[in-house]
Amino acid sequence: MKLVFHGGAKEVGKSCIELITQGNRFLLDAGVKFKEDGFEAPFNIFNLPGINGLFLSHAHLDHTGSLPLFEHYNLLCPIFTTEQTRELTAVLLRDSYKIARIKHLHPAYQKIDLKNVYRSTRIIEFNKAYKHMNIDFKFFNAGHVPGSAMILINAEGKKILYTGDFKLATTRLMKGAEQLLNDPELKNIDVLITESTYGGKILPDRNDLEEAFLDKVEEVVKKGSALIPVFALGRAQEILLILSKRKFSVPIYFDGMSVDLTKKILSLDPTNINGKKTLIDMYKKVDLVKKEKKRHKIMNNKGIFITTSGMLQGGPVMAYLENMWGNPNNAILLTGFQCKRTNGRLLLDEGYIYLSGWKTYVKCQVQKFDFSGHGDDNEIKQLIKALNPKNLVFNHGDESSILSLKAWAEKNLLAKVFAPSVGDSIEF
Ligand SMILES: [Zn+2]
Repeated sequence: MKLVFHGGAKEVGKSCIELITQGNRFLLDAGVKFKEDGFEAPFNIFNLPGINGLFLSHAHLDHTGSLPLFEHYNLLCPIFTTEQTRELTAVLLRDSYKIARIKHLHPAYQKIDLKNVYRSTRIIEFNKAYKHMNIDFKFFNAGHVPGSAMILINAEGKKILYTGDFKLATTRLMKGAEQLLNDPELKNIDVLITESTYGGKILPDRNDLEEAFLDKVEEVVKKGSALIPVFALGRAQEILLILSKRKFSVPIYFDGMSVDLTKKILSLDPTNINGKKTLIDMYKKVDLVKKEKKRHKIMNNKGIFITTSGMLQGGPVMAYLENMWGNPNNAILLTGFQCKRTNGRLLLDEGYIYLSGWKTYVKCQVQKFDFSGHGDDNEIKQLIKALNPKNLVFNHGDESSILSLKAWAEKNLLAKVFAPSVGDSIEF
């Protein structure tokens, strides 16, 4: 048995791992990596004929963005995922296609490929055993975003667990994956492939963080406006749920892709979702912004603006930034992980962003509140210790995070530890 890493290895983005068994080949996720000038597909993507099945962990584009490309080049195999992930992926891929066309990025696939992705999907229920060709598999709640799953594959007498993105702790939006720590089926895994986004980093206590965030929002809106950039799936809903804890003197505007996705989430099967009722209430209560005309009308108001994209790489947040960056009474409150070379990371590290191509030193307040949907260093290690794998593979993390986890694992565990780079393969 062999694993080949086409993406997401020593990086966050374009997650795509090939599992080669005797006679059959499978893929785990098929993402894209966003760059300033477009996106990058997994390494070797056009050279992968004869895939017999694709397993999707969750809907985020760094795990699903290449699906239409694969489809375009004749993937011709079933895509296994949860119903929530299928529906949310459809919304995200449609939007991504629209943006690519507007920006003349030549997405290299057509609208029909989006339909084919949807049609190729086979719905998988959580905690139910399935068989496909020479493997057995099961999906478990990963606690990351609605629909997110850890995928257990039994092949050639070996148990392989792919975590996708996960969080053990329960958040306002999601039931955490903590129960998996005691699941007898997940003991003594042969190969554990774990995400490493927060390797070497500890997240603050969630309740303290929520209170500090709400205090900051209250303080800012006394004199100015708060701009809250969010990821459309997961973070946007989490922020609505957190804001529901207090009453504010200014309106809350909810803009961008988050509007469609929240509506979609509310229409789906609520398995593993927390706070659905509160989310419905908040969705009704906030002022939804769907059109540019309305955006321009309200953006000079004093208010709380929740919008995409979460790393300031495009979307309506750019229009708000243009309007808000120069006033020290305003604040940009970042809410999650900022990838290397994004505006969000530049803002935190260097104090500037690129606005319409201009390097702009931001004068308003900037603060980051990491309401992550990922487990931190403690949670990753807790999962590894509970699963006690024979082979441990770190992926989906910046190199420094992965090397920090690798050093810990080599010192403290008996497992064989791997930190592959893109293009590497490992034989078991
Ligand atoms: Zn994710």
